[in-house]
Amino acid sequence: MDGAIVVRANGGSEVLEWTQSDPGQPGPGEVLIRHTAVGLNYIDVYQREGLYPLELPFTPGMEGAGRVEAVGEGVADLSPGDAVAYTGNGPAGSYREGRVLPRSRLVPLPDGIDEQTAAAIMLKGCTVEYLVRRTFPVHEGHVVLLHAAAGGVGLLASQWLKALGATVIGTVGSEAKAELARANGCHHTILYREEDVAERVKQITDGAGVHVVYDSVGAATFEGSIASLRPRGMMVTYGNASGPVPPIQPLVLAQGGSLFLTRPKLGDYYTSAEESADGCAALFDMVTSGKVRAHIGQTFALEHVADAHRALEARETVGSTVLVVGS
Ligand code: NDP
Repeated sequence: MDGAIVVRANGGSEVLEWTQSDPGQPGPGEVLIRHTAVGLNYIDVYQREGLYPLELPFTPGMEGAGRVEAVGEGVADLSPGDAVAYTGNGPAGSYREGRVLPRSRLVPLPDGIDEQTAAAIMLKGCTVEYLVRRTFPVHEGHVVLLHAAAGGVGLLASQWLKALGATVIGTVGSEAKAELARANGCHHTILYREEDVAERVKQITDGAGVHVVYDSVGAATFEGSIASLRPRGMMVTYGNASGPVPPIQPLVLAQGGSLFLTRPKLGDYYTSAEESADGCAALFDMVTSGKVRAHIGQTFALEHVADAHRALEARETVGSTVLVVGS
């Protein structure tokens, strides 16, 4: 039997229960892996609370990294001991020690990316990959507003956007986070709990506004984000850390200057093995070339994941949070 977290009823972090369960054996085309590191993501909170409903009971966790323990029939290109990882384009269930997964969901880790680094970047870095390369392809000269710039997705996005030649304006919740965001690629930072975001964006851009806003904060920032865009700019609302965005009138987009609005999610950009391989390869290139570095702000033992959820929701974390398994 293996240790695993189970959620039997939606609720606060107290519903994350440590239990024992059998991971099973790999069938044809499947692989049994032993996690060593699991990434914590805000989506885990939405699923725990029930904002993104899952059938109960369930084991949370959208990504992980570890070693191959056994392979099923027909899996010829992986062997026990290989280091592998996976991103968030499949069912939840990574908050556990051993897990059976389809071979197609796993990527072997290249030299230079260890398992903790993988757990820090797989879901968050793949998110940045599709947001900056495929949702709104960012080029040199673009001016970008990025919310929660010192968070997990935020620190990876700040670095990636800078590497693409964009001017990055990051919002953050404290002066310490502002310093960290600037050290990771943000050219300007805004303390959005104290300052008017659209006003500050106007000052920074000489009244022009930004080409694109990447907004994961949701309800609290939506209006300021729309007001920060230049005509024909794109509003990318991709998260709800402060609550989901209420319904809006399409006329708001006309009044803002024929704006574009999209609400993307990773699963729709990582729909096939080819798309996943391409996205992960782009991410690994950015990391192995040193253009993007993982920033693991804090680690927790998997058994204590409730403490990690509390810290994430209280805005106490910076960068990525990694859950260490079996230490
Ligand atoms: P973060 O590390 O970014 O943590 C969330 C941050 O949001 C906090 O640290 C805080 O930063 C900020 N925040 C603002 N308001 C609140 C609030 N009311 N409650 C809590 N936090 C708040 O998390 P992740 O990197 O895991 O995820 C970032 C966002 O991206 C999430 O919203 C997530 O859902 C979204 N996401 C979306 C994906 C998609 O495909 N659509 C895929 C992956 C992530 P500060 O103190 O600086 O304000």
